Amino acid sequence: MKVASRPRIWMIKTLDEQVAAKFTASHRFLIASHVRPDADAAGSLLGLGLALMRQGKSVQMVLEDGGEKFRYLPGAEQILRAPQGEVDMIIVVDCSDSDRVGAVLNGYGQPDLVVDHHKTNLDFGKINMVEPAQVATAAILFDHMPAWGLEIDADSAMCLLAGIVGDTIGFRTPNVDAEVLRRCAALIDLGGDLTHIYNEELVMRSYEAVRYWGSGLNRLEHDNGLVYTSLTLADRQDAGYLSDDDADLVNVLSAIREAQIAIIFVEQRDNTVKVSWRTRPGLDVSGIAYQFGGGGHAAAAGADIEGSLAEVKRRVIHETHKLLGNLTKEMGV
Ligand code: AMP
Ligand code: MN
Ligand code: MN
Repeated sequence: MKVASRPRIWMIKTLDEQVAAKFTASHRFLIASHVRPDADAAGSLLGLGLALMRQGKSVQMVLEDGGEKFRYLPGAEQILRAPQGEVDMIIVVDCSDSDRVGAVLNGYGQPDLVVDHHKTNLDFGKINMVEPAQVATAAILFDHMPAWGLEIDADSAMCLLAGIVGDTIGFRTPNVDAEVLRRCAALIDLGGDLTHIYNEELVMRSYEAVRYWGSGLNRLEHDNGLVYTSLTLADRQDAGYLSDDDADLVNVLSAIREAQIAIIFVEQRDNTVKVSWRTRPGLDVSGIAYQFGGGGHAAAAGADIEGSLAEVKRRVIHETHKLLGNLTKEMGV
């Protein structure tokens, strides 16, 4: 017997429609982003979270390392270090894999929605909105929030603008084009304060952070296009710098003219080393970071690698020289 086939095509929802439907059906939200958050992690978390709250939703915005660093952004004081109770929808922003979220989602199951721009993203959500051509997760949110029924008001605009300014290091990365600037102009029209964000995110530093930079700059090395340095636990103690990151020293290293690739090694407490790579247009460090268990973009990537500082430095410098084509057979490779 012949059965009339139904026009199935009409039943397929676009990603935006799937997200909008899940938003409408959910009341309790949990939004998380990555450990050692950057401005795109915090800005995306807050830009989306505040818009959902304005709709009367209950929203837990969670960063394992807290949001203290982003006190200049509206809503940062509401960022939690761990979620509580049951939720209807879990969203992860600006993370390429679930490990990057830290322990905050333990016991909460698979995220319902992942919004991200890392080309190394593992599509670990039920719905994955991954757009590697975008300069920041905040730019993806700017594009899609209206289609999800969410309004971008002055507070959300401020947060999303911070995400774009942070990930482009103040419009310095080669992926910045007129479209990116048009988005930023629209965010400024909506109430984003570019000068404030630029200064807070990229210019102003604490006295302790700059003293900490001093330790790293003192042991800076340059070898055949590779510029690198390390920061130790003792450096942080000496400088009185309380976070376990590089205080953005990597941006200073990547501004060194001789650096084809810049690397910074940050010693951690648990026998791991946080490694950050930065490179010039034409080279791609995301593969090498991925090979060491991390991820990122062509121009900026990172990994948390197990081992002592000396051992991790030796392995990473060796592999990075290979990427630069510096090692030949005669050199024993
Ligand atoms: P960072 O070097 O930490 O500033 O990060 C540079 C880029 O690489 C960012 O887009 C990060 O999200 C990404 N990244 C850094 N560390 C990791 C990691 N352990 N796993 C995956 N992605 C990472
Ligand atoms: Mn990030
Ligand atoms: Mn990002």
